Amino acid sequence: MKEFHGRLHKKYYYMIVSFIIVLMMAGLLVDNQVNSRFVVHGVMIFIISICLLIYPWFENTWVRYMTIISSTGYFYTLFYLYPETWSGFVLLCFIPALSILFFDKWLFYFSLVINLAFIAVTFGYIGFVDKGQDYPYIYTDLIGNLVNFLASQVLLYFIFHLTNLRIQKQRVYYEQVQQAERMRTTGQLAAAVAHEIRNPLTVVNGFLQFYVEDPAFNQSQKQNFALMMNELDTAEHVISQFLSVSKPDNVEKVDNVDIEMVLKDVTELLNMYGLLNDNGIDLYVEKDCHVAANSIELKQLFINLIKNAIEASPHSGSVEVKAAKVKGHVCIQIIDNGRGMSQEEVKNLGTPFYSLKSKGTGLGLMICYNIVEKYNGGIQFDSEPGHGTTVTLKFPLVPN
Ligand code: ADP
Ligand code: MG
Repeated sequence: MKEFHGRLHKKYYYMIVSFIIVLMMAGLLVDNQVNSRFVVHGVMIFIISICLLIYPWFENTWVRYMTIISSTGYFYTLFYLYPETWSGFVLLCFIPALSILFFDKWLFYFSLVINLAFIAVTFGYIGFVDKGQDYPYIYTDLIGNLVNFLASQVLLYFIFHLTNLRIQKQRVYYEQVQQAERMRTTGQLAAAVAHEIRNPLTVVNGFLQFYVEDPAFNQSQKQNFALMMNELDTAEHVISQFLSVSKPDNVEKVDNVDIEMVLKDVTELLNMYGLLNDNGIDLYVEKDCHVAANSIELKQLFINLIKNAIEASPHSGSVEVKAAKVKGHVCIQIIDNGRGMSQEEVKNLGTPFYSLKSKGTGLGLMICYNIVEKYNGGIQFDSEPGHGTTVTLKFPLVPN
């Protein structure tokens, strides 16, 4: 993630970096003798300053690692060059804190590991070579100092871990907000389109009503008109449903619905659709499966599910629709031997606009989930890629 996109960020960064460089220079000048240690110290400051100054220009992993390596080198150099300054040891404890600023997990672990490696060498040197000559304050309690050092590393690890968790949470939250915003906009557009479609439907419906009464048409033509009007009513209702998804109205009429009747109607309607690809629908329904729901909504639910099953099926594959009474519930299954879905795909079902079809809307299942929930039902998808899908619906059984 780029952090220096704004000029303001860059300005603050350079202010802080300049301050750090001035501090380092001050540390160098306090010594005020030009000797080899002055030169080594100066070279280290130069390397770190370059890394810090070029970072906003490149902002890549390499520069980050370079910065961490050079700062680790710098602090250890200070520690070895100025053994009399005991606070140098404190700075060693804080080296991994620098990498926290970059919020890069691997960089932090890297920094922790090289610091542990360096400190192991340093304690080895003090314990076996120096033996308290230059570093008496460490040598007199070598174990105690080592324990303190390790404790400081654990503490830094926790600070990093907690901060990182929080940042990740915020990142996920931000992505969700962005996603919700996108959906809201597309949802509004779709609702506007649905609204526009409703008007021409009403006009066509009006004309058909007029023709049904017109003696110029014969009986069989009038029957066709009645069928058309019926279909237009369904379309009209589906659109109203879609428009009301965001504000579902509770005044919808709930009937005692015979599942057998509804499924017969729906399969009759969809048989034509299945024939396009030579797909048949086999219906097995037990008698007296009644549920309390709105029949048009139930039709819409079954239409969506069976249509999906047909669309997933191979040429001349058939779709099975079963309904039976099971322990106080009506259990309806829609079984296809089609393309099936992976676990990941099943998880996404019901998400608005989730569709793998070139002409899909990805709204069908969202509406299904809404209807199922509205009538205290349950819906479950069991699917295996390449083997097919079984959709199981459950609604509380009501007496006839
Ligand atoms: P649409 O049918 O417009 O794509 P849906 O919400 O009805 O939208 O379905 C969403 C997606 O779920 C489909 O695009 C399809 O990938 C997948 N899907 C739904 N039912 C089945 C099924 N029976 N078999 C395989 N995939 C399915
Ligand atoms: Mg669909």
